[in-house]
Amino acid sequence: MTETPEHSSYDIVIVGGAIMGASAAWFMTEQKAFDGRVLVVEKDPSYEKCSTMHTNSCMRQQFSTPLNVKISQFAADFVKNMKHHMGGDEWIPELSIRSFGYMYLADNEDFANVLRDNQKIQLAEGAATQLMTPDEIKQAYPFYNVDDIVLGSINLVDEGLWDGTAVFDAWRKSARQRGVEFVSNEVVGITKNAGGTLVESVTLKTGEVVSCGKVLNASGPRAVRTSQMAGIDIPVEPRKRYSWIFSAEQPLDRDLPLTIDPSGVHVRENGGGTYQCGGHSDIDPAVDYDDFEMDHDIWQNHVWPILATRIPQFEAIKVQSEWAGHYAYNTFDHNAVMGPHNEVGNFYFLNGFSGHGLQQSPAMGRGTAELMVNGKYSSLDMSPFHYDRIVNKTPIIEKAVI
Ligand SMILES: Cc1cc2nc3c(=O)[nH]c(=O)nc-3n(C[C@H](O)[C@H](O)[C@H](O)COP(=O)(O)OP(=O)(O)OC[C@H]3O[C@@H](n4cnc5c(N)ncnc54)[C@H](O)[C@@H]3O)c2cc1C
Repeated sequence: MTETPEHSSYDIVIVGGAIMGASAAWFMTEQKAFDGRVLVVEKDPSYEKCSTMHTNSCMRQQFSTPLNVKISQFAADFVKNMKHHMGGDEWIPELSIRSFGYMYLADNEDFANVLRDNQKIQLAEGAATQLMTPDEIKQAYPFYNVDDIVLGSINLVDEGLWDGTAVFDAWRKSARQRGVEFVSNEVVGITKNAGGTLVESVTLKTGEVVSCGKVLNASGPRAVRTSQMAGIDIPVEPRKRYSWIFSAEQPLDRDLPLTIDPSGVHVRENGGGTYQCGGHSDIDPAVDYDDFEMDHDIWQNHVWPILATRIPQFEAIKVQSEWAGHYAYNTFDHNAVMGPHNEVGNFYFLNGFSGHGLQQSPAMGRGTAELMVNGKYSSLDMSPFHYDRIVNKTPIIEKAVI
């Protein structure tokens, strides 16, 4: 990837070229009336440290707000029909979803009631969520210990593992073919007009000043740094999340749903007798942008004992690989922040996705492209996610955040 943009002026500059930046860029090329120039600036084209490369790669419809359910339903449709959605070219892969479902486990009545309320919302949106008693759970998945469990909730339709990297690669390749420019560089400065109401240009690390009509902040956990270049605050910070892949001496005899233990530890099927597990420390501070150090105590003293209690067959397991990644964690209400800034009108957000951004990338990219290019949403109305809710202090209450 080249460092230097071909032009000195673009209609839209996207800061960050991982899954959100790539999705937005590709959906911009889908807007019929738009033939403007789009530049995507990505500081690390190896994508080694971005959230997109550290994910669990799953999608679910078990959310508590109708809009979040619809967003994931579009993800399922996009993934299963990607060839069709992307124009049918031969190189576009056919993908599927391994629908083993997410199994939420409640160990008290309060949380069971949340699951019951959530199920009503999900069913109303057409999701196939089922509530399960401990006996029903045990019958369907004999490997669980359900001694402390009051209720389970699972959806086996379009909920489970999918290949986020394949979608990400396809968006980048297709966007490039359609004229979007990707450069390997870093945005280090943003200049506004004299009144401070509009961004005029971005400055790259290599010194070029690029004028732009609009800017999109798709910087993942670094969202706040990019915003602050424009004098804007956003309540998003990097929070560390650990992942482990392990093999079991006695693999389970059926697919393990992505199980959310009441402790917050989660584990899922990974294929071939291996499983992927995730967790974080009880104290969960913002971390340095470059801090990806593992904490081995968490596995030994927290995660593994929880796994072995929930699934006794996981007493004998062997860690094969492990890594730490960052959530772009929205401390205001744990939900996406999108749309324009309320004062700097051509500065747009696509930030704060915590642990559900991969599955939100199709709908978020599409919505952002519609809004930035046409000035309005033509598919899903995403305005509840707009930045102004932070200014107005009206959080979105989403009860199903992992
Ligand atoms: C452990 C873990 C598990 C997860 N599991 C799931 C899951 O199962 N399902 C799900 O839906 N989501 C999941 N997520 C969340 C999902 O991975 C993220 O929400 C999503 O990848 C966010 O994509 P992004 O493009 O916004 O951010 P990122 O992938 O972090 O990309 C941001 C990019 O911006 C670039 N950048 C930053 N600043 C600049 C700058 N100034 N100039 C140029 N480039 C810049 C960075 O280099 C980076 O490549 C998980 C996340 C983690 C960490």
